[in-house]
Amino acid sequence: MTSAAHAPARVLGIDVGGTSMKAAFRTVQADGRLGEPEHAERRATPPDAAAADVLGDFAADLLAAHGPVDAVGVGVPGIVDDVAGVAEYSVAPQWADLPLRALLTERLAGIPVALGHDVRLGGLAEGRIGAARGSRDYLFVALGTGVGGMLCLDGVPRLGPHHRAGEIGHVIVDPAGDPCGCGQRGCLETIASATGIKQRFGTGISAHEVAQLAAAGDPRAGEVWSDAVQGLATALTGAITLLDLDVIVVGGGVAKAGEQLLAPLRAEIDARLTFQRPPRLVQAELGDEAAVAGAALIALDLLAERPTDRPRHAPNSRI
Ligand SMILES: [Zn+2]
Repeated sequence: MTSAAHAPARVLGIDVGGTSMKAAFRTVQADGRLGEPEHAERRATPPDAAAADVLGDFAADLLAAHGPVDAVGVGVPGIVDDVAGVAEYSVAPQWADLPLRALLTERLAGIPVALGHDVRLGGLAEGRIGAARGSRDYLFVALGTGVGGMLCLDGVPRLGPHHRAGEIGHVIVDPAGDPCGCGQRGCLETIASATGIKQRFGTGISAHEVAQLAAAGDPRAGEVWSDAVQGLATALTGAITLLDLDVIVVGGGVAKAGEQLLAPLRAEIDARLTFQRPPRLVQAELGDEAAVAGAALIALDLLAERPTDRPRHAPNSRI
């Protein structure tokens, strides 16, 4: 115990996606900064409820090979109660009301586990070590298969009383628009997600290819791309007006288009603002690694809430 009490904190972060789980270890450096990812690994996510067992095995295997750690952080998609540690609902992996934090804590022989929502974790990481560093009031928008968001107000990530804050993908931007998976019509997700862009173009090519065609001057691709920009401008102008934001970070696969997306989006937002001040609109810095970095950060936050003289846990330790 004597050496462990003064050792730098070491954590494992895991991001559970619909098709694969990504993990990496992180150590806090002597100057307090988070070190680079170590022993980054992936494992396939099964589509059904077996995902929880596979996740437990993945974490246990990683700890046996590269442990010990002080805590584990896990990000999952869908609706997540970060405080209770419950994965309430997800389509891929498919589960409902799963007490994931308790299950993992048991599987990992008592190692402290923090659970969070994958997009909110991505936003947390962009705020602490990425594109929104230094900002206390920012919005992170992830344009991927769906559209997710994370809101940080006055330095505190906003969870909301029902842990559903930040779902900007389901802000309705076109009431007569296409049906959305949530049951509404015309949500931002239907026109600005990679899936929405692909479906609206309609020839089976990816959102990335639609962006390339639009850049090359294809009129139909340009229209679909412009609709995505308009929808985003509508939703983001609403957020700016309501919240007075400092920074908006745009991430996810669609944001890899960079200035092809951001330049017209800045112009559209500026054209809609009158008395409001425009926030800085920037591309995410952490890319696909944002959520796994955020998972490491909530594991560290868990340690900060605990006494400093902590034992370091290996998977077979008994406490
Ligand atoms: Zn929706």
